[in-house]
Amino acid sequence: MDLPRPLSHSSISLYQECPFKYRLKYIDKIPEKPKYFFSFGQSMHMALEFFYGVKALPAPSRAELLHSLKEHWVSVGYRDKVQEAEYFQQGKDILGRYYEEHVGDFRIPLYVEYNFQMTVDGVPVTGKVDRIDRLEDGRLAILDYKTGKKLAVDRIETDAQLTMYQLACEDQLGAEVGQLTFYHLPSLKPHSVGRRPEAQVAELRRKIVGTAAAIVAERFDPKPSESSCRWCDYKTYCPIFSSAAPSGKGEHLAGRGDGPLPVDSDLAALIDRYGDSLSRLAEADREAAQVKAAILAILRSKGYVRAFGARYEIQRSGTEKIEFPEGNKKKVIRLLKDAGLYERVQAPSGPLIQKLLADPGTDSDLRAALRELGARVEPCDLKVTSL
Ligand code: SF4
Repeated sequence: MDLPRPLSHSSISLYQECPFKYRLKYIDKIPEKPKYFFSFGQSMHMALEFFYGVKALPAPSRAELLHSLKEHWVSVGYRDKVQEAEYFQQGKDILGRYYEEHVGDFRIPLYVEYNFQMTVDGVPVTGKVDRIDRLEDGRLAILDYKTGKKLAVDRIETDAQLTMYQLACEDQLGAEVGQLTFYHLPSLKPHSVGRRPEAQVAELRRKIVGTAAAIVAERFDPKPSESSCRWCDYKTYCPIFSSAAPSGKGEHLAGRGDGPLPVDSDLAALIDRYGDSLSRLAEADREAAQVKAAILAILRSKGYVRAFGARYEIQRSGTEKIEFPEGNKKKVIRLLKDAGLYERVQAPSGPLIQKLLADPGTDSDLRAALRELGARVEPCDLKVTSL
């Protein structure tokens, strides 16, 4: 087979971590579940892309930077609205502090979100560098933002991502790289090293070529490990975790279950979309119920039956009802029997007694006694009309 797509730092890392996982993601195209930390990282990167993407000085204002976070906010993958709001606030705090720290030394970078495509010994490789600046001596400074809570600082000496960026920038831009930086946003700390020695670049080249050869040879055996499998979204497809899932070369995936099912990646994607849609519906239902209760409370307190938003009209509908607590039902029956009316309702059910109360022929003392035993339930239906 051919490579399904050019390699990148993340796809090489994924293959090294677990070849079977690589196959599920890039060949069978089964999407992983959205993760809040990816959404948060993406939102922060896009806000900084806006900040450094200006064509001329001055730098955007603090308010503009914070607004760009709101505009570019990616909200998938969060556990709930509370967690999302916490992260949004955290993002604003970080960017606010970042602005104070760096507005003084703001310079327009050489490149922001620099996309590269190169060929490494015949293997197509692609990627994106967060920021490239020009050092005073004319060499390039490569910077990669990190948004995780902690950054393992010692990895900067060996991290293959920075080595790949050095290789790509020197290949594509024809200038030597002088500095490689991981910028840890939560702590506002840059961690920089000089350019990688040639031996390290050569090692990366071998890794790229070796990974490409293994993929083309369809070597996709699972590689279980505590750290990889614990958070893996693909357990239901994985032969290590599911006896129903096949693992042979070139087989298309079957779903989980008692027997092999003709599940393809389109179906798997639809199943996930369906599940996600139901979750969103449940979330929307919860939100609508809360908002409805709040509207009803205001309408009640103000005595309104109808009110308007900018796009919708709302109207209280339904009729007032009477409901009897369990403890009062016997008394109601007694009252009705004494009045010779029990047969008309058979039981003190709300709707039937409602009719009796509405009947002008019902004795007024009986009506008052029944009202006293029951509890009024206000109309709580809302009719929403698009304006
Ligand atoms: S569960 Fe483990 S072995 Fe299976 S695909 Fe995921 S990472 Fe690989």
